[in-house]
Amino acid sequence: MRAAFFFLEQAMPPEAGFSTFAGVELAALGEREGTPLYVYSAPAIRARVRALQAALHGLDAGICYAVKANGNGAVLRLLAGEGAGADIVSGGELQRALRAGIPAERIVFSGVGKSDAEIAMALRAGIARFNVESGAELDAIQRIAARNHAVARASVRINPDVDARTHAKISTGKAENKFGVSIAEARGWFDAKAQWTNVRLDGLHMHIGSQLLSLDPVREALRRMAAFWRDLEAAGHAIASIDVGGGLGVRYREGEQAPDAGEYVAAIREALAGFKGRILVEPGRWLVAEAGLLLSRVLLEKQGDARRFLVLDAAMNDLLRPSLYEAWHDIVRIGDNAGRERIGYDVVGPVCETGDTFASARALPRCRAGDLVAILGAGAYGASMASTYNSRPLAAEVLVDDGRYALVRKRQTFDEMIAGERPATDWITA
Ligand SMILES: *Cc1c(COP(=O)(O)O)cnc(C)c1O
Repeated sequence: MRAAFFFLEQAMPPEAGFSTFAGVELAALGEREGTPLYVYSAPAIRARVRALQAALHGLDAGICYAVKANGNGAVLRLLAGEGAGADIVSGGELQRALRAGIPAERIVFSGVGKSDAEIAMALRAGIARFNVESGAELDAIQRIAARNHAVARASVRINPDVDARTHAKISTGKAENKFGVSIAEARGWFDAKAQWTNVRLDGLHMHIGSQLLSLDPVREALRRMAAFWRDLEAAGHAIASIDVGGGLGVRYREGEQAPDAGEYVAAIREALAGFKGRILVEPGRWLVAEAGLLLSRVLLEKQGDARRFLVLDAAMNDLLRPSLYEAWHDIVRIGDNAGRERIGYDVVGPVCETGDTFASARALPRCRAGDLVAILGAGAYGASMASTYNSRPLAAEVLVDDGRYALVRKRQTFDEMIAGERPATDWITA
């Protein structure tokens, strides 16, 4: 890939302005559908999934897309059409995946707190396997599977205790994190597996964190998991599935280096050489982040005593990553920027929180009220993390493809936003 982002391929030279995305004029799109608006590029998502499939060629491997990155039904359908399965972390995500046509036998269920109802729903649907994160969960799956006269397939999520070198809030593979169990505990489960008569414990799983820009922690975690697999095989425990998790990082900033699919899969091939079972990968962000942007209109410019603010109509409730993780997103002004003075702006939203800041002292072409800007790299953990904080209805989402677009989530109305609320008139004695 030559350009830093898929969409910048269409903005050459960058100074000439950024105006189209997968062949669609963003100004016209903003006019028709309003802002804030999530825009996803179908060709960019397809390109990513195909690149990963190509890298995995020759392995008995499957892609289980992490639905939490972007659970929009149209995005899921697109990925289902490319043959992807799903990694789900809730009953809601299970229903989304099934409705989008992802076959149950390509769905794996991760997460540290699965309720009985969610376990039962997944068993009934016939998912491929549970990624089990605690002894209590293993017991619950046994109890529910026995009641349903079913046998659940399960993998142990091991916590390999490696530092993924990512933001603390998205690191999941250190001993102090809540996820998975130690290799020692997992070993105990395998040795005692006969006691869980309705669970077939024959897989290993890990997921050490998200937005991994270095493959070294991945290699180290894979090395530990592979050593454990060999140890289990030597003890007579057949392993049918090894799930290496997700976490592959992306470029949020032009010029940033991120590993590519080839390097990533080479690390997997090397660590799991000789493994005869099925290999699963669970990318979320890598498949969709760079394929999406958040289109927003400038409400006003404000000169404070100390800083110059650019106030957008998008806010932290639409895109939480900058507030939650201090995450960087490239921001571009849509349209012709030739000859425009560059200004250092604090780019903020209207929400009543100082944390509602997309960027600080960011150099942008001079903007005026009514201008459009695009916050790039917003395809993952954007709409899926949105809320209605400050009573701001959820943004609309569109999928663009080859000069056309489809509205894949309509903008929430005020009435829809408050639909579940009731006045306190019917009091119930409990
Ligand atoms: C979130 C998550 C993923 C996906 O992470 P990305 O960084 O988006 O690739 C994969 N597996 C599990 C278990 C997860 O919780």
